[in-house]
Amino acid sequence: MILSANEENILLAAEIIKKGGIVAFPTETVYGLGANALNKDAVIKIFEVKQRPYFDPLIVHIDNISWLEKLTLNYKNEIVEKLINIFWPGPLTIVFKKSEIVPYITTGGLETVAIRMPKNNIALKLIKYSGVPISAPSANKFGYISPTNASMVYEQLGNEVDIILDGGRTEIGIESTIVYVENNDVYVLRLGAISIEEIESVIGNSVEISEKVKSPGQFKFHYAPYTKVVIFDNIEDVISCINDYKSAVVITDKKESPDLPDNVIYDYFSESGDLREIAKNLFEKLYYYDKMGIDVIFVKSIKEEGIGRAIMDRLKKASRRGALKL
Ligand code: AMP
Ligand code: MG
Repeated sequence: MILSANEENILLAAEIIKKGGIVAFPTETVYGLGANALNKDAVIKIFEVKQRPYFDPLIVHIDNISWLEKLTLNYKNEIVEKLINIFWPGPLTIVFKKSEIVPYITTGGLETVAIRMPKNNIALKLIKYSGVPISAPSANKFGYISPTNASMVYEQLGNEVDIILDGGRTEIGIESTIVYVENNDVYVLRLGAISIEEIESVIGNSVEISEKVKSPGQFKFHYAPYTKVVIFDNIEDVISCINDYKSAVVITDKKESPDLPDNVIYDYFSESGDLREIAKNLFEKLYYYDKMGIDVIFVKSIKEEGIGRAIMDRLKKASRRGALKL
């Protein structure tokens, strides 16, 4: 059931969370599928509905930094403090050593727990009214495109979720950046909405994209429509193979006027090529064309700088569905 995210419905959703139910709600990144992170039975429902493997840990969402004391063992660190001061609430997830109260089902069996404070009033109120931290992966079936509006959630999860709070389109459109801090070094475990450059400018040091710390949920294939996605650099390469397909769409980063055959749809992620706008439109456009049932989605590669790196990460993973049989 989709309900508009007014005060009354947020309270209703909070009651469901308290009773061990699951609720889909907007954050600033994408829509999440939430449950009480400290209630094993509730968290299991998330894995079941998403058909997500149990070894893939969930991010725990909090509304107040006082939760760090209860959920973690090592939050007192100068670099962590800096990151929290600058980026929370916001799309930065930090991995900590977990305390005893965090169940292993939430952390995929790990001794660590990933935590963030979302920058979305609906999400913050829901956590506050529930009185518990909320674990919330994206509200989609495992491996598919992350939802950035309420109907994308409904079309995937339907009535398997107790309530979908509708807060409109999400502001950012791609997931949080995940980091791990060890001593004074910051390792990026997943590229996301906060760019590496932004983190480096805050900590005054370089940041590594790490294989060193394991992040079990980082699959090569992810965020993927059923339709084939092909990334291209030059439009000539698209034109030379486009006749192999019955129908196709070509999406570029900014508005252009490519010379395409009449049966090919043309679209762009952002009129001006603005990376934030591309991120915001990315999953919605892929979803829209996936539903249209065309043969192939050609997407122009995005410059890998700032948030462009995370956008390309999502696109590359979206183009690999063929690697996994569903
Ligand atoms: P999402 O599916 O967007 O909610 O993001 C969850 C991802 O966060 C997982 O797939 C992991 O890659 C990462 N993650 C969550 N918890 C941990 C953890 N304790 N250690 C390392 N990575 C984690
Ligand atoms: Mg996800």
